[in-house]
Amino acid sequence: AKALTLDRFLQSQGFGSRKGCRDLVDDGEVTINGETVKSWKQEVVPVEGLPFTVFGEDWEYRSQVYIALNKPSGYECSRKPSHHPPVLELLPENFEWRDVQPVGRLDHDTTGLLLLSDDGAFIHAQSHPKHHVPKLYVATCAEAVTPQLVAKLLAGVQLIDEPAPLAAVHCAQLDEYRLEIVLEQGKYHQVKRMLAAAGNHCAALTRTAIGGLTLAALDLDEGEWRYLSAEQLLQLQ
Ligand code: URA
Repeated sequence: AKALTLDRFLQSQGFGSRKGCRDLVDDGEVTINGETVKSWKQEVVPVEGLPFTVFGEDWEYRSQVYIALNKPSGYECSRKPSHHPPVLELLPENFEWRDVQPVGRLDHDTTGLLLLSDDGAFIHAQSHPKHHVPKLYVATCAEAVTPQLVAKLLAGVQLIDEPAPLAAVHCAQLDEYRLEIVLEQGKYHQVKRMLAAAGNHCAALTRTAIGGLTLAALDLDEGEWRYLSAEQLLQLQ
């Protein structure tokens, strides 16, 4: 990697404008490799994982970030949220400066596994209609789950605005009111609309896995996030 002056280095990590980053360094708020830096003109080679601190908080240099969040209810995934606070409020402020965005969307009242990144190619590939990564949801239904409901979801249901019926690739009853359902598409309100088309109603929805990456393995409380490891990224294929 090419050496950068510290203001550019900090700016790439989302710590504000060039001017703001220069001030941070000159005010003595930044350490690199454990040493306080005296001038923003100092150069640093941005190596993946390089430790630095800003205002005493620990960071590692990352050229791009790949994040898993356990989304709570009541947050919107859209860029300009209208009725609820944005999911980005749950992440450190510098992620917004880095233009971190949700990969696809969960409804404001849907909880569970949400990916976020500032890697445009990754976001594009993950949300492409031809990218058939299975997504596992647990739905709580308003009416009791029946074998007929499960059979209909597996056979496929016709939604308004869709050219062909959409089917679950897996569906199983969990208990009286809950079922698990795996979808390979990500159409607008897809689980809720499929349940409605099959004669029930979705009362609560949570996404528990994307590909081989499970929320359980990530061990995140609601509202918590973490960086994905290289191995975890591979599980998304
Ligand atoms: N299906 C839905 O209906 N809502 C979501 O948030 C995700 C899938």
